[in-house]
Amino acid sequence: QKEQWAKLKDEPTFSKDGEQVELVANIGTPDDVEGVLNNGGEGVGLYRTEFLYMGKSELPSEEEQFEAYKTVLERMEGKPVVVRTLDVGGDKELSYLDLPKELNPFLGFRAIRFCLENEHVFRPQLRALLRASAYGNLKIMFPMIATLDEYRQAKAILLDEKESLLADGVKVSDNIEVGIMVEIPSTAVIAKQFAKEVDFFSIGTNDLIQYTMAADRMNEQVSYLYQPYHPAILNLVNNVIEAAHKEGKWAGMCGEMAGDSIAIPILLGLGLDEFSMSATSILPARTQIRELSKETLASYKDKLLSMDTAEEVEEFIKEKTKQ
Ligand code: PEP
Ligand code: MG
Repeated sequence: QKEQWAKLKDEPTFSKDGEQVELVANIGTPDDVEGVLNNGGEGVGLYRTEFLYMGKSELPSEEEQFEAYKTVLERMEGKPVVVRTLDVGGDKELSYLDLPKELNPFLGFRAIRFCLENEHVFRPQLRALLRASAYGNLKIMFPMIATLDEYRQAKAILLDEKESLLADGVKVSDNIEVGIMVEIPSTAVIAKQFAKEVDFFSIGTNDLIQYTMAADRMNEQVSYLYQPYHPAILNLVNNVIEAAHKEGKWAGMCGEMAGDSIAIPILLGLGLDEFSMSATSILPARTQIRELSKETLASYKDKLLSMDTAEEVEEFIKEKTKQ
């Protein structure tokens, strides 16, 4: 099986009926790029930038960040690289930022909420990204977007920094796509409105599931509620993909669900364009997708979306895909 995987390393990803999707990887540091390329990744679908900020006593400088982003973009040689802006708070604490202790950190002051209130942290990251954009195919993604207003504010700050760099004669790419993570149910529900303004969506199911099911992703006592195949989750995912396609935009997924062998056929049938997963899952996923008919899977869509339970969905897919 390993030999078969190796043969597919430099191949694009097609379903049995000839439909193309993109298999990309989640990374945390520039060192992870090697693993992405060795495992046949067609790009980076989620670069979690938190690691640049962790295990230190002060904020990383703009220069330090620029070097890291540039390294990733150069090593990826023009393949797409989706970089997520800082997602602190929640489970990710930074000692030097003096974040408040919160009763419900996952529902609190984190990610874009923190960045919009702390422009001295947000702006240097955006500048570093814009400067690095000249070295590859950069896409910028904002985490934990709950309202259109948050997206508009973040985008305005990005454009402001772009203007100022251009005014200083700094080279910045003029086709950087700007998108959002869909990990809050409110955003999944009004994806149609967002789709008019964003360039792409990336569905963050790790958080989307915990918020939709109201079940802490770290709490084992409620882990039975953490159900990726729950029809509520599938309906939200479908809503996001449909909204994107109506506006001619693409929809990806960067939560764990994107690399799961039961979820992959479901997502292929719903029309997901980009699957971002841990690098080691890419070749198994490509092998699986080559044996799946997108058209057949798409014909199950209405049935799956109206099922009663996650178990029912799982059994149905297992039977249809012989797993
Ligand atoms: C997610 O929420 O699905 C996601 C990819 O982000 P993180 O796991 O970093 O919260
Ligand atoms: Mg998340």
